[in-house]
Amino acid sequence: MRDGFGREITYLRLSVTERCTLRCTYCRADEGCCPKEAELSARDLVRVANACADLGITRIRLTGGEPLLRRDILQIVAGIREIPGIRDISLTTNAQMLTEVASGLKQAGLDRINISLDSLKPEVFYQMTGGSLEKVLQGIEASIKAGLNPIKINVVLVRGLNDLEVDDFIQLTRDNALDVRFIEYMPIGAGTRSDHLRVDNTELIKQHSGLQPIPPRNPGQPSRDFQIPGYKGRVGFISPISHQFCADCNRIRVISDGSLRTCLGQEMEIPLLPALAEGDEALREVIKQAVMSKPAGHHFRLEHLNARGMSNIGG
Ligand code: SAM
Repeated sequence: MRDGFGREITYLRLSVTERCTLRCTYCRADEGCCPKEAELSARDLVRVANACADLGITRIRLTGGEPLLRRDILQIVAGIREIPGIRDISLTTNAQMLTEVASGLKQAGLDRINISLDSLKPEVFYQMTGGSLEKVLQGIEASIKAGLNPIKINVVLVRGLNDLEVDDFIQLTRDNALDVRFIEYMPIGAGTRSDHLRVDNTELIKQHSGLQPIPPRNPGQPSRDFQIPGYKGRVGFISPISHQFCADCNRIRVISDGSLRTCLGQEMEIPLLPALAEGDEALREVIKQAVMSKPAGHHFRLEHLNARGMSNIGG
């Protein structure tokens, strides 16, 4: 499926809930705009995934809010696993509840996992997120044991909080086959006025001359990847502000309330609920039309446009 600018759309980010267990300073999920009762059911999430697969989506990421808050998360993963054409299923989590469920996720059909980890210091981690660093580290261990691979660690650098930990994060890749990725602080939700807090990834890359560029894992992926020779892991930089990658964007997002969003940094949303009620043919048609209206690029600079936070849209 190609959009109006000829970009091949192959990647769906499916938000299964807006609810979250943490309150990260740069994101700040509250109860969300979509209460639990209004979240798409597991059946409808799988129907959306199925319709997208029929149109050419091959990779799906489950996200939120905190996706592990869904009691039926294993059912959702297993349902998507059965869809022909879906080659890759991944999930993004804060890992506060991951240890108990990592092996079940793998058995249900999850291929890989992204874990948010903003500080390696327990007190800074708590200050930034309200959560437990220990639980994240246990979750990473459990994911390795379960055979989820690759494991990607997402770090949002915030000036004055964790920006002096860059070298510690890079050192994590020395003995661990982890992908550590620095994500630029985006001006959405709680981060709307974040320019002074953002660490510019392009500058960061220049400052770390030991990092050698390596080929991407997937064509069209947003991160620019590096490695220190001899280290087991990789270091990636996702830089939507300093190194915009919209021209290669291959993704769409579906929010847990059933809205389809074709761009993270633009507010246009298309409701899928009427088509879900009508039937799968209508669902495919509305998704196809929405993809044709995918904008050329994000409007992060127009701050007022980005009121919905990451936890609402699905980060
Ligand atoms: N609850 C899960 C988690 O914490 O990984 C999934 C949802 S969370 C919204 C997904 C990712 O978005 C996290 O890695 C988080 O750090 C990132 N994120 C949230 N707000 C952001 C912002 N303003 N700028 C950059 N990344 C952000």
